[in-house]
Amino acid sequence: MEEIKINEFEFDLINEFFTELERQGPGSPKETIRALSFIGNLSSKTKIADLGCGTGIQTIVLAQNTEASITALDLYAGSIDKLNLTAEKLGLQNRVKGIVGSMDNLLFQNEEFDLIWSEGAIANIGFEKGLKHWKGFLKKDGYVAVTYESWFTEERPAEIEKWWVDAVPEIGTIGHNISIMQKTGYIPVAAFTLPESCWIDNYFIPQKTRQEEFLKKHAGNKTVEDMISFLRREADLYSKYKQYYGYVFYIGKKI
Ligand code: SAM
Repeated sequence: MEEIKINEFEFDLINEFFTELERQGPGSPKETIRALSFIGNLSSKTKIADLGCGTGIQTIVLAQNTEASITALDLYAGSIDKLNLTAEKLGLQNRVKGIVGSMDNLLFQNEEFDLIWSEGAIANIGFEKGLKHWKGFLKKDGYVAVTYESWFTEERPAEIEKWWVDAVPEIGTIGHNISIMQKTGYIPVAAFTLPESCWIDNYFIPQKTRQEEFLKKHAGNKTVEDMISFLRREADLYSKYKQYYGYVFYIGKKI
């Protein structure tokens, strides 16, 4: 049977499901802070762009752990509204601004940012394409920090290979991705894998109650049923094959 791909579900439906969750992809505040520790020269003058920010869990962590001004961008207006509301509640609205836009067509000034951040989102436009496009908006010596789906081994079972190649056609090994970073004009500064808890405790487990709720709310809707089956299969495959892949944080410095 042909497997359905996540991007074949309606964008609005996926976002309706995920914006009620604290995060929309694997990750954790601890790993965001760990990645931040590799970035030099942070000050109150630092300008950060957080691309594919979702409802902004990592945006807020960046704001609370720097004095920087942050522009957070996502294609989905509902996520941006939620992020701007959270920033206001936390008194961060002067330094955190959420805007709607597409990360493959950024309308910022050339060399506007000191740091471009993106967790769990670059695959939507492609790792190489994203790194190339974003570089123009970084100052010289600016940094990029992204999490990206990566193979941990040179080979893996066909079942998981097919699943990921369908979802992220250009998925590669950590070595391959570092070479792309170099090829697109960055000095690799660090690469580290996200621990399993980022997937299991922070991504799959919180989805469980939401899945039940969502199925009830959209009872009889076949697209919703297919989407929830897809998400459950993603979790099952992770527990079966997690030694072969995961998210890796890649940090690079613009040459
Ligand atoms: N960074 C958040 C997190 O880790 O919780 C969200 C990650 S979620 C897996 C991917 C996000 O990318 C979604 O919020 C989605 O709306 C956004 N997205 C997808 N394509 C995009 C595009 N072309 N431009 C901007 N955002 C996009």
